[in-house]
Amino acid sequence: MLDIRLKAGLHVAALSIICLFLWLISSAVVALLVFSSALLAYLFSHIFWLNKLLYWFKKPALKEIPQGSGLWEDIFNALLKYERNNHLNQIKLNSALERFNLTANAIPDGLVILGSVNEIEWCTANAENQLGLDLTTDKNLPIVNLIRDSHFIAYLYSEAYNEPLKLKHCRNSDATLEIQVIPLASKQKLLISRDMTQLEKVDVMRRDFIANVSHELRTPLTVVGGFLETLSDMEGAVPDNLKNYFTMMQEQTGRMRRIIEDLLTLSTIENSTGNSNNNEIDMLSLLKSIQNDAIGFSQGLHQDVKNAKHHIRLDADSELNLRGSLEELRSAFTNLVSNAIRYTPTSDAKNSGEILISWHLQDEQAIFSVRDTGIGIEEKHIDRLTERFYRVDRSRSRETGGTGLGLSIVKHILIRHQAKLEITSILGIGSTFSAKFPKARVVKKPAAVK
Ligand code: ADP
Repeated sequence: MLDIRLKAGLHVAALSIICLFLWLISSAVVALLVFSSALLAYLFSHIFWLNKLLYWFKKPALKEIPQGSGLWEDIFNALLKYERNNHLNQIKLNSALERFNLTANAIPDGLVILGSVNEIEWCTANAENQLGLDLTTDKNLPIVNLIRDSHFIAYLYSEAYNEPLKLKHCRNSDATLEIQVIPLASKQKLLISRDMTQLEKVDVMRRDFIANVSHELRTPLTVVGGFLETLSDMEGAVPDNLKNYFTMMQEQTGRMRRIIEDLLTLSTIENSTGNSNNNEIDMLSLLKSIQNDAIGFSQGLHQDVKNAKHHIRLDADSELNLRGSLEELRSAFTNLVSNAIRYTPTSDAKNSGEILISWHLQDEQAIFSVRDTGIGIEEKHIDRLTERFYRVDRSRSRETGGTGLGLSIVKHILIRHQAKLEITSILGIGSTFSAKFPKARVVKKPAAVK
């Protein structure tokens, strides 16, 4: 900029010196004439180059940039440099975009970018195939106009995308998709569709296998268990020196039977499609019967320990009921209560053996919880407790008749009721297991008139 100004100043200065010289050697009129014609020529040359620049801007092409002369040579050179950089950046940008498109299209999942009103901004070929979209015609159209599944529409508008949604493949009704929405900055969303058909098939095979094996094992085990019981009941049938082995055999068949029963329960729950039923459950009577069973279970467990017993208390909101499956919920709650009993020692002088079953409403959610003063659980185990056969204390679990499947059953039952299991525990102090049920399952009974 400074260069150009300097050059223009020099031009004007040179012209002024020439005119001054002409004035000295001839007359003022001649000098003025020369000065004004030179200025006119100077002005015309600028108009000429400005016109060229304007013309180039109408059809800007790198090769067509004029050469220019004088001041304009610098301007056109700067323009050429700028355009060359632009051109290089454009090439880099195009190749990055091409690489991004190639990579995105190579991902087996379908990707869709949605705008602030869920209009389609961009999508990959797999998304087009799985969701039945066509970017060339569907761009900027709201996705809910194209995917009309009511569950999908509810999921998209719910803005609660913690869990993925299952959806039928648009071009293959036997295939299942998993839809996950991830909110992006600036109100955009990334929708990921994943073909789950293969995984679902493997999962169905796994569940069928477990259910079939458990079924096949149940009958021979019942027969063996039956014979063992008959023999031990028959006077003199078992020699005294073999009685211990007999008792062990009976215990082990009993254990195997419990594992098989739990495996069958788990596969029945897993194989039941859809949500559990919606019957209103009289929670107070359910919880009272669970409390009574728990007292009996505690006495059975500690028959041999003198004066040892748990204090099992119930604190329930009598006006609060729940919609769901009575059998499933009885099984889930019983599992939590029996765990509290099994993992809460009573012979321990430090331990009072307190177990509190409570049922309350909190922030519109109904909460069933079991608090014990038992052995507690180390923090690192808590996330894994609902895995099948995961046990912190294997020998205690076996001694008290555990199968390692109880919390897994609880988790699946709660999922079917859209509920969540929360576990808090302090090692050596006790644990609290809480099942939180959503508002939609809560029934508030009108208060009884006194
Ligand atoms: P199990 O039949 O072994 O009790 P569960 O699935 O019911 O199997 O529980 C898994 C593990 O979680 C148990 O083995 C135990 O280590 C731990 N656990 C469950 N409930 C409690 C509790 N109330 N207190 C301490 N540990 C518990």
